Amino acid sequence: MTEGPDGVLALEAGDGVTERVVRDLARGAAPPPFSVRALLPLPPVPPGERLITVDQTNHSVIAGETVVVKWFPRPSRAPHPAPALLAHLTGFARTATPYAAVYWEDALVALVTAYLPEARDGWEWCVDEAEAGGTDFAAEIGSLAAELHLAMAAPSAVFPDPVRLSPSGTGVWRERAEEALREALTLTDGEDGAWLAERAEALRRELEPLASLAATPLIRIHGDLHVGQILRWRDGYAVVDFDGNPTVAGADPYQPAARDLAQLTTSVDHAGQVAVRRRSADPAATAAWAVSSRRRLRTAYTRTLTEAGRSGLLDASLLRPFEVEQECRELIYAARHLPRWRYAPMGVLRSWFA
Ligand code: ADP
Ligand code: MG
Ligand code: MG
Repeated sequence: MTEGPDGVLALEAGDGVTERVVRDLARGAAPPPFSVRALLPLPPVPPGERLITVDQTNHSVIAGETVVVKWFPRPSRAPHPAPALLAHLTGFARTATPYAAVYWEDALVALVTAYLPEARDGWEWCVDEAEAGGTDFAAEIGSLAAELHLAMAAPSAVFPDPVRLSPSGTGVWRERAEEALREALTLTDGEDGAWLAERAEALRRELEPLASLAATPLIRIHGDLHVGQILRWRDGYAVVDFDGNPTVAGADPYQPAARDLAQLTTSVDHAGQVAVRRRSADPAATAAWAVSSRRRLRTAYTRTLTEAGRSGLLDASLLRPFEVEQECRELIYAARHLPRWRYAPMGVLRSWFA
């Protein structure tokens, strides 16, 4: 472990810190000031560790080709949603089995989950799909998202009352979405900004269903459900990363299921944009691919809920407004943190208004 100029601790590949922590966990001990919230029993972990090197927010290290220890480089005392969600989801098979959360005093410093062999995230596999033009994946991740929501909506010791009803007509979501639109308009300059400004009214109209909303079911959502959080691994697809949305502060953890679904479907669109930009995929063919993928995703999602007798969990009238809000958030994110990302939401918006 080395300390960077800003005091942030950095893990070095093979420096043994992760291995030691996992050994301590296996003994059920964690030296003070650390403490552990055990979730499920840890399997035996052989020696050896290596860093995960894909684009990521945190630092994930694979120990013994068996577990992944995700270190949070900037631990915060603010409550972190993942440990409770993972405890709630211990019966949900389609995520990396959660073993433990490690705290330093009351700040979450690491999460320990199962390692999924041969895993690739959607910024790889879904871009491959966009390039190849296949859409079968969309049905698979649509049912995966629905299964996740069914598990979120099932009572557990952690969340005995996991489905709530929103108060009707409060207008908070409309305000939140309109604020995102205003910010996206302010932060996006140049030709893109001019294009957006011309469509500001049309975009605002898309948000209107949020104003006249009747009471609608709320569940604990994933909160950051894009294809990058869906791993295709040796045995299928799995959803990971329950950290919540890093770009929305202070949101109610209970949200409509449509929030996750809208983010997931727009991320398929983004994968298409990446394929066009980085792999010279044909724009028209990719746009058609995105349309049918999104349709298949949504159909499979709805079917899975319906088969479970829970179709009422999705309020479909929220999907379009949340998709529009999501694209605004992508623009805000690009303007604030990653300017080169702007092409993706702009490409999607242009395809919607073509
Ligand atoms: P972050 O919060 O840093 O985005 P994620 O939990 O999304 O962390 O993980 C980052 C990346 O690490 C994923 O995109 C994936 O490539 C890899 N990864 C995460 N969890 C696992 C796992 N259980 N098995 C294998 N690879 C994983
Ligand atoms: Mg992630
Ligand atoms: Mg994350």
